[in-house]
Amino acid sequence: MPLLVMKFGGTSVADLARIQNAAQKVKREVERGYDVIVIVSAMSGKTNELVGWVEQTSPLFDAREYDAVVSSGENVTAGLMALTLQEMDVPARSWQGWQVPIQTTSAHSAARFLSIPRENIDAKFAEGFKVAVVAGFQGVSPEGRITTLGRGGSDTTAVAFAAAFSAERCDIYTDVDGVYTTDPRITAKARKLDKIAYEEMLELASLGAKVLQTRSVELAMRYNVRLRVLSSFEDTDETSGTLVCDEDDIMESKVVSGVAYSRDEAKMTLVTVEDRPGVAAAIFGPLAEAGVNVDMIVQNISEKDLGGRTVNVTDMTFSCPVNQVARARKALEDAKAAGAIMYDDLVSDTDVAKVSVVGIGMRSHTGVAATMFKALAADGVNIKVIATSEIKISVLIDRKYMELAVQALHDAFALETAN
Ligand code: ASP
Ligand code: MG
Repeated sequence: MPLLVMKFGGTSVADLARIQNAAQKVKREVERGYDVIVIVSAMSGKTNELVGWVEQTSPLFDAREYDAVVSSGENVTAGLMALTLQEMDVPARSWQGWQVPIQTTSAHSAARFLSIPRENIDAKFAEGFKVAVVAGFQGVSPEGRITTLGRGGSDTTAVAFAAAFSAERCDIYTDVDGVYTTDPRITAKARKLDKIAYEEMLELASLGAKVLQTRSVELAMRYNVRLRVLSSFEDTDETSGTLVCDEDDIMESKVVSGVAYSRDEAKMTLVTVEDRPGVAAAIFGPLAEAGVNVDMIVQNISEKDLGGRTVNVTDMTFSCPVNQVARARKALEDAKAAGAIMYDDLVSDTDVAKVSVVGIGMRSHTGVAATMFKALAADGVNIKVIATSEIKISVLIDRKYMELAVQALHDAFALETAN
């Protein structure tokens, strides 16, 4: 029997009417001849509420009990979805993580899959059940405790099941109708993509496009899962939404596929650091230990006159999420106090944003950077930091120009048209 994985996010199961609507979509696939594994999130807002309850009860909570509480939202929707399907004469059974059992590491609230054995669910399909409704976001540790996968983890559950059960496709139903060239709230010219390559989606997801959890895209890429993002609020068919797939399955694409942005960036500069081997390690080691997610790094070499003797010095600039600035500052000041690094000043700029262009076409085309920088210059946007990878160019700019920059780049790469 061909098998599909269908995942419904929180807004798609937000109330009983929406669960009905989602169940209709499942029923239609069953009528087309599929066995279906449905992965559900908690009703929207539920997980936040549960997290809040845990934090109010116990500020320094035991992570095992956090997972016990926070995983429960998905249990409710899994049972309700199974009941709704039964009411529609679709033989369905719900599964909590431990019943499958979805085996994960014991890293509570950030667990990773160890294995998803098929036997129990296969046996139920063999009995005549057509749908297995699995609670997303959860699993069970080797110690037998309930675990969760990190926020947004149901996407990753869905992809892992699609891989384990060799599903024909993994459909992620959500409140948007696909992946766009950029955020439609920033420019009305944003266009829905029919297809996007795994690597591009991975960059977009890690750059802050909220539509898929980054790990789900990594997993889809590793196991070659055909992943589709589509709306649960529209009538959909095989061609709806955006397919995230291997680049070989995309006939023709533009050099740049999308423009991403992240509003919550900060830039920090260590002024006049001695330039010698080991300095970068001495700076970024303590930052890593403090859990600071350093993103872009720039180093400028110059010379400094120390009363007749010139020494090489450097200004080291890096970017990190704006809510980690205090932590970064403390780590660097502590390292300075301990004599591990020397610098004259530590300057932070918390009014910056990151804008990136992404596209696998960049591997084989030159001139993308020049086009990008020209477009920004034409609108008078000053670039503070630049970083590149094989398929991405990111710039840090003043936050007040962020929307302007996204629009300018969307125009410069003519993303409103498909060809
Ligand atoms: N309910 C969980 C969350 O809100 C998992 C998910 O929806 O993917 O993060
Ligand atoms: Mg989500």
